[in-house]
Amino acid sequence: MRTQIVAGNWKMNKTLDETETLLSELSAKLPNTEAQVIVAPTFVNLALAKNSLESSTIQVAAQNMHFAENGAFTGEISAEMLQNIGVDTVILGHSERRSHFGEEDDLLAKKVDTAIKKGMTAIICFGEELGDRKSGNHFSVVERQLKNALFHLEPKAWAQIVLAYEPVWAIGTGETASPEQAQEMHAFIRKTIADAFTPSIANTVPILYGGSVKPANAADIFSKPDVDGGLIGGASLKVDDFVAIIKAI
Ligand code: PEP
Repeated sequence: MRTQIVAGNWKMNKTLDETETLLSELSAKLPNTEAQVIVAPTFVNLALAKNSLESSTIQVAAQNMHFAENGAFTGEISAEMLQNIGVDTVILGHSERRSHFGEEDDLLAKKVDTAIKKGMTAIICFGEELGDRKSGNHFSVVERQLKNALFHLEPKAWAQIVLAYEPVWAIGTGETASPEQAQEMHAFIRKTIADAFTPSIANTVPILYGGSVKPANAADIFSKPDVDGGLIGGASLKVDDFVAIIKAI
């Protein structure tokens, strides 16, 4: 059975104090679950999150990192810095990194390589824009994104990969892909990986859905056979909503 994951991407939200409050509320209300629960606070609050979740099953991820070991990259964070505070999971390629900061697939591929080399788990985000879906190009866009970012990997590296299919038109918009649309794309992703690598890799890699998941739609989306959980933005900032989504898995 594949690992099921519910990951909260807190984006540029929550001060130190607010992070502490949200984490303690989440810990207190965390349901009994076999799913892996992950939170991704902003960089400056990662160390606090690691410390306050020391005896918790909740894991901590970063929202991004640079590919270089160190050096003249003002404002950036390295893998070593994350690992030094105990953070071994990183979200890479989020659509907001792509659209607001011009990150493209070739940069993502370098970040993926660094994460793999350092023994980290990388949650790789990708997904089509509204225009791609309207023109029927969503499968080819997703295939190209996967290929550019991941198809150079050694087969064994896939053990460190989690995929997050996030149609851009559904992120933070309130618009959600239907469970059928999510399943259709996840099955396509698995087939694409099976063709390029092996069916075993394709059947093992967790594929999360992201895009306006909320308590009202989580159970339907998670019920689909190729959906292994969710990457949750807005709803992960409200403890009761996030807990309800965790329960839905
Ligand atoms: C995200 O940012 O990864 C995301 C899915 O956001 P939201 O749930 O708010 O659409």
